Amino acid sequence: MPGTDFILDELERLEGLNQRRFLKSLDQANAREVSYRGKRLVNFSSNDYLGLASHPRVKAAAQAAIEEFHASAGSSRLICGNLGIHERLESRLACFKQKEAALVFSSGYAANLGIITALAGEGDQIFSDALNHASIIDGCRLSRAQVFVYRHKDLSHLERLLREAPAARRRLLVSDAVFSMDGDVADLPGLAALAAMHDCLLMLDEAHATGVLGSTGSGIVEYFVERGSLAPDKRCVDVAMGTLSKALGSFGGFVACSASLREFLNNKARSFIFATALPPSAAAAALESLQLINEEPFRRESLWKNFGALKGRLSEGGFDVTASETPILPLTFGAEVAALGMSDRLADRGYFVPAIRPPSVPKGTSRLRITLCANHSGDEVEGLAKELSELAQDRR
Ligand code: PMP
Repeated sequence: MPGTDFILDELERLEGLNQRRFLKSLDQANAREVSYRGKRLVNFSSNDYLGLASHPRVKAAAQAAIEEFHASAGSSRLICGNLGIHERLESRLACFKQKEAALVFSSGYAANLGIITALAGEGDQIFSDALNHASIIDGCRLSRAQVFVYRHKDLSHLERLLREAPAARRRLLVSDAVFSMDGDVADLPGLAALAAMHDCLLMLDEAHATGVLGSTGSGIVEYFVERGSLAPDKRCVDVAMGTLSKALGSFGGFVACSASLREFLNNKARSFIFATALPPSAAAAALESLQLINEEPFRRESLWKNFGALKGRLSEGGFDVTASETPILPLTFGAEVAALGMSDRLADRGYFVPAIRPPSVPKGTSRLRITLCANHSGDEVEGLAKELSELAQDRR
């Protein structure tokens, strides 16, 4: 085939850098274990934090929705795909996030793309944390707004950029709530103060905060209100984006916001307008998960207990895990080959923790990204910590 040498050349280049990605074929997978190459491994890499994707009630809700509404919504929401189940889910999400309204998208990725490009365009400014998720970065790029990237969680850098930037039509400040590769939490009180002072709309991506942060799992606002660092009645997050695909054990993205912003996005967010509506089964599964999040708080308690236990054991074992504040624990090895080797050795010992490499993380920070789930037993957590400590000893 003429003109296609670049494909193999690029794959070879990535291979040379140890950055080529391969799909791992899993025979079975849930939040707690996977079956890989005929072997059962304890899974420490899922985002199904509460183990709800395999909950019998969540699966039954998805099955019942297929019976009632069929396997596909059949068109976009604005044509003939807007079903009662979507609207029930949106009302429930709005209530969960204590907002006037919510709108669901076909994925979290699509939500970020659609929201950011609708809110900011040519002549506007976006202020974005250096470690924001790729879907935020892509939304910023696609928007054609002027993008100012501030150093990770460095609010004095952000403040300087806000102060020195020329006047603009509109300003959007956007941050991950929980940073997906590091597990640290954005300084919402600080961001909210700067947003108010510099006339920015504030958008938070709560992909890893939803169902995880706060005593009811409502997310980052509840987390800071309960710590006493945010007034409960304070208007602070204008755009609370999240995904149904992590702690909610389903698929799809959402935004919780004012009723007028929902209406605006409904008219302006291209990834909403030009995409088929969320499958009814995904909407029903997420709706049931929201119910379970409320009814079964022991899941969140177990998740946090596992996090506390693993974080404690890893720091005893000499790992630097101080930055992580949520059930995402990165162990940084630097070179790609070191992280890949560690992941292989863990797999030999019965643990599934894939290596994360650039461009998912900055160059020179390849890592194991351990995620915990409510369903892990104390023994499984202890077992992982023990293996990691032994492997680290061997490296020293
Ligand atoms: N935002 C963040 C912070 C994420 O981690 C992810 C998923 N990796 C997304 C957005 C995209 O969500 P989804 O997988 O639902 O497309």
